[in-house]
Amino acid sequence: MSVGQSFELDPEAGRAFLSDLMAEALGLVYAEPQITTSGASKTEIQNILPSQMPTTGYGPEAFMELIRSAFVPHIRSYRHRLHFGHQRPAPTLASTAADVLSGVTNTTVSVFEAGPFSVALEDTVQSWLRDLFRLPDSAAVTFTNGGSESTLTALFCARERWDRLNPGNDFRDACVLIGAHAHYCVERSARVIGIRPENILRVPTDQHGRVSILELRQMVKEVRRAGQPVLAIVANAGTTATTAFDDLRTCGSIARECGAWFHVDASHGGAAVFEPALRAKLDGLAQADSFGWNPHKLMWVSPPCACLMVRERSNLHRSLAKDLVHAHYIVDQAQRPDNDMEWSENLEWTLACTRQFSAFKVFATAYIYGTGLIGNRVVAMCRLAAELAELLQKADQFELFCEPEFNIVCFRHLGGGDLDEFNRRLRARLVAGPDCYLTGVEIDGAYWLRAQFTSETTTPNDLPWLIELIDIEAQAFRHCVSESERIGS
Ligand SMILES: *Cc1c(COP(=O)(O)O)cnc(C)c1O
Repeated sequence: MSVGQSFELDPEAGRAFLSDLMAEALGLVYAEPQITTSGASKTEIQNILPSQMPTTGYGPEAFMELIRSAFVPHIRSYRHRLHFGHQRPAPTLASTAADVLSGVTNTTVSVFEAGPFSVALEDTVQSWLRDLFRLPDSAAVTFTNGGSESTLTALFCARERWDRLNPGNDFRDACVLIGAHAHYCVERSARVIGIRPENILRVPTDQHGRVSILELRQMVKEVRRAGQPVLAIVANAGTTATTAFDDLRTCGSIARECGAWFHVDASHGGAAVFEPALRAKLDGLAQADSFGWNPHKLMWVSPPCACLMVRERSNLHRSLAKDLVHAHYIVDQAQRPDNDMEWSENLEWTLACTRQFSAFKVFATAYIYGTGLIGNRVVAMCRLAAELAELLQKADQFELFCEPEFNIVCFRHLGGGDLDEFNRRLRARLVAGPDCYLTGVEIDGAYWLRAQFTSETTTPNDLPWLIELIDIEAQAFRHCVSESERIGS
């Protein structure tokens, strides 16, 4: 046995270990989850784990025991029918298959010679996505480690282009306009590329959470009248809070008129592309200078798996590739095939050097099921959201934030005095228990409960039960508040 392998299990024990592990994993996939969470505290879980990094290993049997006694019981189940959590799905089996193969081979997607199959496949999926979103051949599609990285890369491109077009002017004097409900990563990315915080301007939204076109026009007019250039306008296709879709065509033309880069954060709502009936929500997306979409949300693949599309590929390459001139150990221009001016390595198109082989998860999911079934599932999720909203509207003790536009419903219980505080504490009580999971969100200063549909096991019959669970908890909570007030007085 070679020196490097000497600590590994022998082949027979290794196979047994991996197949035991698979059996546990299959249990997590196929056994119907009875609870969403065990409710154990962080300390209770940490007490099961060694507090110090072992110098002498415990061995595979102890590991399997840990999986059975700690991982399996304490992992939150995203397959539960009453799981309405963050935008993170239980992955498709196709995605899991790709994860397993990427995991055992640890293949790279950065340079072709080190990962021939993975780089070729990633390029193929990039071209699939160019077609899916009806982008011109000149568009670049790249895979990133998440929507935040896509946004940062896009705004970096915007800044680089602005610098090229405005020599002698300081980009730090320019402003970036973003929707009031933009994901926090948009503001953070703007700060990271060097925009002054006071130059990151939030555009007010209408009652549905969409950027108000009137306000956007007005703000652009005002900053330009004051002599300030607009570096970028960022719109949303599916906001994090309510999945509101901005009017992308109009936002895009306002951006063009003022010479700003137009980026669309379609991290969540880009999945509308799979369904003809929903696709109109993305009108204008293909004309944006850039947009990001996360298959690790509504394509039901595991994270990280996100993409960034840049309409004019040279804008992306010029921004990123120049730092690689000294990286001869990875990108050697001398290896460029004769006369192939298009030749480049995939790491010339991304901020990250090492990335997961995440294109494989998109590939496997589309290859096995086809995009038609993905589209059906997106529609089914939106329909469930609409049904929940309808039930809530009929229930006197609930208030709906607005008709859901996609797969998220925001609402609150009208149970007690300070509604923000009441709903915040109500949610905390609910999610500490095993029965259901849902998130909360603050919109324009008010707190709302937020149910997000991704679990394929949720059926219409589960919705009245969710409402009842929340109501029962609200009654119990109100009772305990009034008890403590009685005791306190
Ligand atoms: C999820 C989300 C993000 C962040 O994506 P990550 O992959 O978590 O970094 C950004 N914008 C929107 C609208 C999102 O829904």
